[in-house]
Amino acid sequence: MKVLIINAGSSSLKYQFMSPDTGDVYAKGLCERIGIDGRLNHSVPGRDKVVQDIAMPSHSEAIQAVLSILVDETNGVIKSTDEIDAVGHRVLHGGMAFTESCLIDDACIAAIEKCIPLGPLHNPANLMGIRACQAVMPNKPQVAVFDTAFHMTMPAKAYTYAIPYEYYENDDVRRYGFHGTSHRYVSARAVDMLGNPEHSKVICCHLGNGSSLSACVDGKVVDTTMGLGPLAGVPMGTRSGDIDATIIEYLMDRYGYDIKTMMNILNKKSGVLGISGVSSDFRDLDNAAAEGNERAQLALDKFVYEVKKDIGAYAAAMGGCDAIVFTAGVGENSIDMREKLVEGLEYMGVKIDPVKNKTRGVEAEVQADDSRVKIFVIPTNEELMIAKDTAALAK
Ligand code: AMP
Repeated sequence: MKVLIINAGSSSLKYQFMSPDTGDVYAKGLCERIGIDGRLNHSVPGRDKVVQDIAMPSHSEAIQAVLSILVDETNGVIKSTDEIDAVGHRVLHGGMAFTESCLIDDACIAAIEKCIPLGPLHNPANLMGIRACQAVMPNKPQVAVFDTAFHMTMPAKAYTYAIPYEYYENDDVRRYGFHGTSHRYVSARAVDMLGNPEHSKVICCHLGNGSSLSACVDGKVVDTTMGLGPLAGVPMGTRSGDIDATIIEYLMDRYGYDIKTMMNILNKKSGVLGISGVSSDFRDLDNAAAEGNERAQLALDKFVYEVKKDIGAYAAAMGGCDAIVFTAGVGENSIDMREKLVEGLEYMGVKIDPVKNKTRGVEAEVQADDSRVKIFVIPTNEELMIAKDTAALAK
């Protein structure tokens, strides 16, 4: 079986064409500047990358460009689009309607539409991707895989906000959590790596440009750091993470910002970029800090402090911890960051082996021999999860 994975943003569309059985990726790429002019970046393992300027007034032309290049004689990997068995879509917000992936039909689309107020930036773009695929491939099964779904096992005490209850009852205001497909993949791998015990307590740290942690008991999420939206939790590349809501009123009053401007500051100008004034990219921050930039160092220290605090909080919430998992760009690749994140957690039975920890981008166990808690580096593979769900539902 061969599955096309689509992750549609407002002006971009990422794709990956792969096998859900082996995880082999036949081709992947990115359509960017949709609605502006249009550019296709396409890559096939073992071949040179291809960049083409193609007019993309909407997501439909972008999907059409993807299908054309997949069957292209020179750059393609299949003879005909008949070889695409199903299409899997990453969808940001499934609200309370979706606890798992779903075959896309009219009811599913209506439910995704209903979640637009909860994911106003992403859900409309995800829907554009879905509709564009339905238009050009009307007979192929399409599946929606939600970023929120894996977190829906949280108990009420974790997902309820301490605001008037009517906002939960009438308006669906609660913690949802994101990066669910990544947390699902790495937490399942962690349970495997623990030897599939009947009971397990795992803390997953998805640390990249966006970051979130989850606490998983027996493979099910009991808490996660992101909230109603992906702005909550630990500081991120450009997102503030949790802040005192009073700051919002204070700055809006002081500078006359409207709510759009304020949210743009919290989403795009905050996080480690906001503190450092240097970059949202952790490698840039490492370099700047090494050259003596104090604010870059402060941004890194703040990130470490908050992630470490949440690791402690989740160990407390679960009454212990069998494994800590590091994944995503920073978690998989930053040796230094992993070392700092567990420094001082020896009292919890967490002890890293600095030699084993010198690893990047591959699955590894990096705890010391006498560490009670395992420390796993697990490269995430959201696309594989989407492909597997898509294949299972399409069958
Ligand atoms: P992601 O959003 O998962 O793609 O992660 C992107 C982030 O990972 C960026 O901030 C990168 O700087 C960071 N990253 C990737 N490789 C490294 C590395 N070797 N050391 C530190 N940060 C890294």
